Amino acid sequence: MKLPNGLKRLVIVALVMAFLGCSEDQAVVIEDSSDRRIVRFDVASANVYVVEENGHRLMIDAGNPGDEARYEALMRRSGIDPATINVAILTHGHIDHAGTAAFFQERYGIQIIGGTGDQPMIEAAGDVDLCPTSITAQLLHMTLKGKQYPAFQLDRGISANGGVVDLAEFGVTGKIIPHSGHTPGSMVITIGSHAFVGDLIRGGVLQPEVPATHFFMCNLEENRRRIAEILALDGIQYWHPGHFGPFPRSAVGQYLTQQLGD
Ligand SMILES: [Zn+2]
Repeated sequence: MKLPNGLKRLVIVALVMAFLGCSEDQAVVIEDSSDRRIVRFDVASANVYVVEENGHRLMIDAGNPGDEARYEALMRRSGIDPATINVAILTHGHIDHAGTAAFFQERYGIQIIGGTGDQPMIEAAGDVDLCPTSITAQLLHMTLKGKQYPAFQLDRGISANGGVVDLAEFGVTGKIIPHSGHTPGSMVITIGSHAFVGDLIRGGVLQPEVPATHFFMCNLEENRRRIAEILALDGIQYWHPGHFGPFPRSAVGQYLTQQLGD
């Protein structure tokens, strides 16, 4: 049967959505060393990370609204009581990264940290223009338009002008790098040899560990420039995106070379 292109894309989007809806929740240990333990919690293909170091716990990103109990269950299965998490750093304010922030803040008193550049987005509870980067993204956009997450206030805003923030104040060895690119208030978190990059780049359903351009981006050029900046950092070997991944540094380098050549 030959389907018109538009319909074919709709079918692809429906299949992707169905896959995301029924993909199994999983916890993956990324590092378990004498220095620290890092676990990735994947619910409906939205990654949340928890970093443990010297008895301190830090969460990166917060997934989609409605998935609170699924993240909680995964954390408890990995021996993490959410009440012992001190702070959650949002890589940006989109719905699939800030969606459960209100819950974790209210229920467990977790301090929420985000970029001040995304303050308008957080005030709009995620309902903002997403700037689709492809036709498939436009179709995905139709399913997201008007969706909002439960409102919350940042306990602390990180300004892009304030420079890098040392995570030592939260008991963890690493940095928050304010990094407008995917959104004005995006931030990258570096810990050891790992960079947690939010939606600066993404993996896909069929090729989880192959870097691809994220579906929604308002300034592609700025985003590429930011990817190059993180690639230039010494000691970062692994990239951990908001969706799928991880990527070795070399794979991101290849992705960027190919993008700049297009
Ligand atoms: Zn995003």
